[in-house]
Parts: sequence; structure tokens; C-alpha cells
Amino acid sequence: MMNIEQGDFVMPGDVLGVSEQYLPGDWTYEDGGYIKSAVIGNISINKREIAIIPKTTTPLLLKVGDTIVGQITDIKGQRAMVDIQASIDSTRELALPYSGAIHISQVKNGYLEKLTDAFRIGDIIEGKIIKIMGDNVDINTEDPENGVLKAMCSRCRKFMVPTEDNNVLYCEPCNRKEKRKVSSNYDD
Ligand SMILES: [Zn+2]
Repeated sequence: MMNIEQGDFVMPGDVLGVSEQYLPGDWTYEDGGYIKSAVIGNISINKREIAIIPKTTTPLLLKVGDTIVGQITDIKGQRAMVDIQASIDSTRELALPYSGAIHISQVKNGYLEKLTDAFRIGDIIEGKIIKIMGDNVDINTEDPENGVLKAMCSRCRKFMVPTEDNNVLYCEPCNRKEKRKVSSNYDD
């Protein structure tokens, strides 16, 4: 605490500052000289007033065009199956346990011989929703920002690093390369 910044996420009872420092705003209270948060939310500081913007609890329904983050759970024929974990545009929980699929024709611009040259089970990927049927969604990863965000070496299970080639990741311990459709946002 005491390193409070605009937008920080807080829980009920978290100390936001001392009473000499701030005036208590919405969703805060004073307790023994401290200003504390009354709710789950994000800090909003306006001059000397400190307030909380409560976190919405309304679950999020995905829509076409949303960018999601998920994990590859299986590769079945022409489709990579994705457990969708979040929308990158929102911190809200997803309303449904969405399952995604990436068809081999939706992975990248140009020809992809086999899906395992783009994704492997366990990879964390980013992609855009192109179709929704209930809790099943189709995903496209052609955009340079879309694709694999984090991947483990299939031999030693350590995280791999990007290379100059956005179709290749590198495992330092094994000194070996693996093919992927790598996102420009790859987490290295
Ligand atoms: Zn390795």
C-alpha cells in the first residue's frame, strides 16, 4: 500500500491512503485515520479526492469482432480447439464457458500445410471472433497481432522465445526451433 495509483484494482478494506492525504470519495470510508475501499473496484483520484469505481459484476457476452485470449486444448483434423479465457477488451468474467475453434483456413494469410505448424496443445493464443453459435465461437488469427502469445517447447516444456521469423519459436535449453503462427504480441 501507499503506492496507490489511478486505476489500481482494490478489494473491500484495502487502505487507499491516510486522511491527511486524501478526501474520501464514492465507495470509500474512513477508519482510524485511513481511507479504505468499501467495494471491489478501481481507484479514481481527482485532485485530493480518492474514490472507487465499482467493478461491474455483469458477465460478458462475446460478440463478433472481439479479440480473445485462450488456450489450445486439442488439434482435430482441420481445427484447433480453444478454451477461451478472456476478452482482451474487458476485465469482466465471461458469461459462458466458451469453446473456440480455429479452422486451418483461418490461421494465416497464405497456405498452411498442417495445423501443428501453427499451434500445439497448451499454447496461449490471441484471435478474433468471426462467428458465434451459442457458446461455440469460430476464431481467426490472420492479423499479425493474433496468433501464439506464449508456447512451451514440446520436448522440455520450457517457454520458447520469438525469432526474426514470425513462423518460428526457439527453445534455448534444447537449441531447437518449432513452427508456430507467432503473434507480434508474443510474451517474451
Ligand atoms: Zn526445449
